[in-house]
Amino acid sequence: SKYTKDDIIRMIDENNVRFIRMQFTDILGTLKNVAITTSQIEKALDNKCMFDGSSIEGFVRIEESDMYLRPDLDSFTILPWHTQHGRVARLICDIYKPNGEPFEGDPRYVLKKTLKEAAEMGYTFNVGPECEFFLFNTDEFGHPTTVTHDTAGYFDLGPSDLGESARRDICLTLEEMGFEIEASHHEVAFAQHEIDFKYSEAMSAADNILTFKMVVKSCADSHGLCATFMPKPVYGRCGSGMHTNMSLFKDGKNVFYDPESETGLSHIAYNFIAGILKHIKGMCAITNPLVNSYKRLVPGFEAPCNIAWTLSNRSALIRVPASRGESTRVELRNPDPACNPYLEFAVLLAAGLDGIKNDLMPPDAVAANIYDFDVVERAAAGIEALPTDLSNAVSEMKADPFIEKVLGDHVFNKYTEAKEREWYDFSTAVTEWELDQYLNKF
Ligand code: ADP
Ligand code: GLU
Ligand code: MG
Ligand code: MG
Repeated sequence: SKYTKDDIIRMIDENNVRFIRMQFTDILGTLKNVAITTSQIEKALDNKCMFDGSSIEGFVRIEESDMYLRPDLDSFTILPWHTQHGRVARLICDIYKPNGEPFEGDPRYVLKKTLKEAAEMGYTFNVGPECEFFLFNTDEFGHPTTVTHDTAGYFDLGPSDLGESARRDICLTLEEMGFEIEASHHEVAFAQHEIDFKYSEAMSAADNILTFKMVVKSCADSHGLCATFMPKPVYGRCGSGMHTNMSLFKDGKNVFYDPESETGLSHIAYNFIAGILKHIKGMCAITNPLVNSYKRLVPGFEAPCNIAWTLSNRSALIRVPASRGESTRVELRNPDPACNPYLEFAVLLAAGLDGIKNDLMPPDAVAANIYDFDVVERAAAGIEALPTDLSNAVSEMKADPFIEKVLGDHVFNKYTEAKEREWYDFSTAVTEWELDQYLNKF
């Protein structure tokens, strides 16, 4: 690994680090942290940092609430922003039980298990996420709104792009933290942005997504804006996706690439695609976790709603971008940035491996724009629809025992309970839309 304990202690000294954030996530992917002062660092590096997990979503009962944080030394990063009292660093942690076993409710553990399975088959799983988000104004009290005076569109630039300077600040901050930013641009909707960073091995890609969101939110804040990764914040406009680019490497070579095949895609790449297609319905509650997620997955906004794959157009669920060689990859287009990336990558990888182990083959790639298909054409082409709401997605998840096995009982049960509660709250709430439609009329 990159750093030893001594390296970390030295870097803390040399950089006047006074606080260390010991970070982890709950099952919903919310970043949590226990902050310690530098005086506690040796104890923390010896895995003796303890916290009470009882009130964290998806964790445990009161009587078994003591948890231990084991920092991943390689995740050590000094946060680029300065405070009055020296600097702040972070360590991303695994969660262990008092008996020394990994905690089954730790999303990193779920991903680790699946990565181990891939490693046993000789594979490294590489992931490149494309996170989209909105930068909105805050109101006079500093609260988030959906108001913006930005009138820019896809790839536009200032002065109509009012988020440009915040976006630049985000990119530079991320670079200081070691990210390689490949591209950043204004997206289709007013106030919508995308910043792409270079793909990496899945665990660090998932860690990076959490860091990314934290940096975007804090830079936006310092520009007087609020950043949101909510999938569909404005009706009638594009939502925010998190396209997930995936490939498997073996002995340093991309095994999705085969120069001999007609498409340049290997047999393994086809297997992987078929595995994803097989389990996609059962995975949607993970990749698209919110009530609001399903308001993005509707026709007309470059987000998918049908289960199909393609070598070109952007209406399909899976697109294989044109680049070959090392960048041969499968782009899954339904995930949104509200998902828990550890669980997301675990189920996607497991589904892909299932395709490889069982030598599954996908149906033919679809060339036409599927948004234009009517119900009959879709049925004739054998194209099924993605779940249309969260309730539907949770039922599909419960109907695919494979997903339960990948997540483990603990995460599966807590997750489905939390999502059923969310759906119940939503379906019994009386919304703005209903009042507009019915209050006066009836
Ligand atoms: P597009 O515009 O085609 O949707 P982008 O260029 O915005 O895609 O983003 C491509 C993403 O794919 C980047 O994060 C990039 O690092 C990632 N990527 C490139 N090669 C691979 C690969 N072999 N495996 C996984 N991700 C990859
Ligand atoms: N914003 C679109 C979505 O909801 C994606 C746009 C793009 O292709 O980059 O998925
Ligand atoms: Mg985009
Ligand atoms: Mg994309």
